[in-house]
Amino acid sequence: MKPESLAQEVAQRRTFAIISHPDAGKTTITEQMLLFGGVIRSAGTVKGKKSGNYATSDWMEIEKKRGISVTSSVMEFNYHDKHINILDTPGHEDFSEDTYRTLMAVDAAVMVIDSAKGIEAQTKKLFKVVKQRGIPIFTFMNKLDRDGREPLDLIGELEDLLQIEGCAMNWPMGSGKNLVGLYDLYHNQIELYHADQPQERFLPLDEQGHLPADHPLTHDSIYRQTLEEVGLIQAAGNPFDQAKIAQGEQTPVFFGSALTNFGVQTFLDEFIKMAPAPSAHQLVDGRQLAATDDQFSGFVFKIQANMNPKHRDRIAFVRIGSGEFEPGMDVTLQRTQKSLRLNNATEFMSDQRERVKKAVAGDIVGLYDTGNFQIGDTLYSGKTAIEYPALPQFTPELFMEVTAKNVMKQKSFHKGMQQLVQEGAVQLYRSYQTGDYILGAVGQLQFEVFKFRMQNEYNTEVIMKPIGSRIARWIDPEQLDPKMSSSRNLLVKDMADQPLFLFENQFAEHWFQEKYPQVKLTAKL
Ligand code: GDP
Repeated sequence: MKPESLAQEVAQRRTFAIISHPDAGKTTITEQMLLFGGVIRSAGTVKGKKSGNYATSDWMEIEKKRGISVTSSVMEFNYHDKHINILDTPGHEDFSEDTYRTLMAVDAAVMVIDSAKGIEAQTKKLFKVVKQRGIPIFTFMNKLDRDGREPLDLIGELEDLLQIEGCAMNWPMGSGKNLVGLYDLYHNQIELYHADQPQERFLPLDEQGHLPADHPLTHDSIYRQTLEEVGLIQAAGNPFDQAKIAQGEQTPVFFGSALTNFGVQTFLDEFIKMAPAPSAHQLVDGRQLAATDDQFSGFVFKIQANMNPKHRDRIAFVRIGSGEFEPGMDVTLQRTQKSLRLNNATEFMSDQRERVKKAVAGDIVGLYDTGNFQIGDTLYSGKTAIEYPALPQFTPELFMEVTAKNVMKQKSFHKGMQQLVQEGAVQLYRSYQTGDYILGAVGQLQFEVFKFRMQNEYNTEVIMKPIGSRIARWIDPEQLDPKMSSSRNLLVKDMADQPLFLFENQFAEHWFQEKYPQVKLTAKL
């Protein structure tokens, strides 16, 4: 590809993830976006559990049971002049470290909030990761067709709970049964909720932001209240600040109702204008590598095992950081310096897997993997070495003791354990006193995948005993006294032999701190 065409292609990319708490409406919004992109023709097709569309998929049994599919891990479509990649961040019982790692591969995030519930636990967790990356975050306050919380209250919560400024782009005119429309501050118009004709949907406002005096809505109390509220946020709200948005310090806030497809397109249209195209990456050697550099490079941010025993391959998800991917190209795997030919790659549409034709910086390609890749690996073409920074490790919250059921299988147990841990499937700890294996994960799914793969790939049945949800806190080895350990604050060591306590709950942690005030406990991210 010529440099100008590469630059043009890259400039069209918008790669983002939707972060939300389960049930806030992520799937519904995603479907609306796919409808706009012409990828699907009717709603209800993204989640297999709703439509059974993925019955023939040969992907992970566990995924199938849950009704999700690898094909929904990345959704790719064209909309207007943009090429959009939505990366899925599974939640609930499908929550895993991959959910967090996916956030390392996007250029922006969309935060969907249920306007009746406000900011919920999982949104908060995912937000923390996105915020650390300093990428733009766009907010969609959903379910306006239901009575929710006061819009001012919702915006205030962004600041109180997430420490991010909210800047309203539009403002709800009523809600629930009384929803009239959206007052669009950005375009100085009103978007009506129920317009008889599409051309009647938008009402232009005058310079003062008012409807013409003879418009019937001017007598409506909801309209008058909206003007009051809008006046208030214009006077006292956060002024729109592009630089702050770029750094994730301010979030543009849009309101709407995904289910009734109200405000979603308005949101998407603004989002693709405001969200960034892929930009340069800082490499380990300190160099800035431009996305438009013609040397191909990318990093593995997720590895998904195929649970079908007949196909033991995995898919390594690669975020392209620079250049263009071509099927059959030769690349170097930075960690091993081995040369690989990338013959078998797949790109993602919502309802099918396709061979990659063209992919550039910002896109995701899935590589069939027979065990070559680990999370965080860099791939690059050409002679100049490229190394992306390691992906962060996320502090596990759930723990399991694990042993091999059959003592004769110790060898394959250790091998499987070592490989799966190295690959990034789960984290491994050892009990400080006994050396017993303890697995740590951010989501239950990771344990299930581990168990399944130990059985299928390493022919080892494992016994897992839950230790439950724990708070991990590292301790300076100099301050450590093994007597400090008890069942409520288990002492373990991590892969780097660093000691840490697994506290049963916050109460146990406080109790410990009171007993040993001189001991410094630290939480990794
Ligand atoms: P997810 O778990 O975040 O993917 O949420 P879903 O998109 O599956 O939505 C959860 C539930 O909320 C479903 O029953 C949706 O139909 C419903 N829902 C989503 N958006 C809206 C909305 O704008 N208004 C209302 N009333 N319900 C919605």
